[in-house]
Amino acid sequence: MLEQSERLRQVKYAIRGPVLEAAYEMEKRGEKILKLNIGNPGVFGFDADPSLLSAMQENLLGSDGAQSYSHSQGITSAREAIVSYHTERGVSGIDIDDVFIGNGASELISMSLQALLNPGDEVLIPAPDYPLWTASVNLADGTPIHYLCNESDGWNPDLTDMASKISSKTRAIVIINPNNPTGGVYSEETLKGIVALAKKHNLLLLADEIYDRILFDGARHIPLAALAGDHPCLTFNGISKTHLACGFRGGWLVLSGNTDELQNYKQGLATLASMRLCSNVAAQYACKAALEFDTQMKEFVHPEGRLHRQHTKAWEALNSIDGISCVKAEGALYLFPKIDTEKFGIHDDEQFVLDFLREKKVLIVNGTGFNWPQPDHFRIVVLPKESELLDAIERLRSFLSTYRQV
Ligand code: PLP
Repeated sequence: MLEQSERLRQVKYAIRGPVLEAAYEMEKRGEKILKLNIGNPGVFGFDADPSLLSAMQENLLGSDGAQSYSHSQGITSAREAIVSYHTERGVSGIDIDDVFIGNGASELISMSLQALLNPGDEVLIPAPDYPLWTASVNLADGTPIHYLCNESDGWNPDLTDMASKISSKTRAIVIINPNNPTGGVYSEETLKGIVALAKKHNLLLLADEIYDRILFDGARHIPLAALAGDHPCLTFNGISKTHLACGFRGGWLVLSGNTDELQNYKQGLATLASMRLCSNVAAQYACKAALEFDTQMKEFVHPEGRLHRQHTKAWEALNSIDGISCVKAEGALYLFPKIDTEKFGIHDDEQFVLDFLREKKVLIVNGTGFNWPQPDHFRIVVLPKESELLDAIERLRSFLSTYRQV
């Protein structure tokens, strides 16, 4: 048998893992599954703005066109637009050399860790996390160390726990803000506390801010790099979520902070970027176009908007189920409810979501898939239409009325 590498055996990605495989099998047998598992707006009737499509079409041909390789960090015009966007949001001292465009933020998350870590180096990652972060640290031979986020404090990171997990091997702190899976949007006080810890222990800051413009009810997103100032910080963003364009694969990374300190690391990143030649050039044109207007998300997250309504209704419906409680998300596309494990005898949350899938044909993701330490949470996306979301939650209510895990 052809064996996969040892390194890869450490890597898990539950969002597209065994439960999804089971759902595909059921679909092959003709069963219809309600999929509440992936934050993929396009499949729920949210379309990218036509200007992104025309930017790709208009720039296909010609010597600078998307038919050709580009500079490995990305086309100049898109990098200029990215610099302007982040500068306007308070990140200072950046220019186009500090920007790397990738095939989604995903590729850059992995590259940034490959460029940073030596075997055994530790990276502080939130629990719960978007599991690509843990997987990418493992793949880079690093050791993920999870710090807890505090459910009773709007899922803000627990700074005491974070501080207690810093060791002589720690190289970086990751934050995901707004957060996937919790929907938490971090307070200025928390962010300042994280910057202070990073400064004190000389740690690189890695800020995944891909949901920065998906905010509900007046929540305010503060870019970590704007608070970090001269301290080295990498900010990840892209058009997948805020511009409803997951499939185009357009994301970017901005390095900010003291230029001298970042120089050597940046050369490493440039080497990795050159090895894959460049990212999809058509999507780079879409990134530029996306940054020229203020995203349709504004209209969807407005109190009368579709996403706002779905998110509120789903949150209310979940909280009305006996044995479920859910913190109201302030941003992003998800809810991360807590389930009473004693009441339902749940000790294995993957089994719980599998049982729910088989019986009620609804696909959700277990909390431990996001590196949450207890089997007492799950994640749903709030992208489906209100009627579908409420149908799925009713099926959950009915499922739980008789469920007891054996
Ligand atoms: N970061 C977070 C927190 C995400 O939730 C996702 C996708 O769900 C990504 C990054 C990946 O983004 P991209 O589509 O740009 O690769």
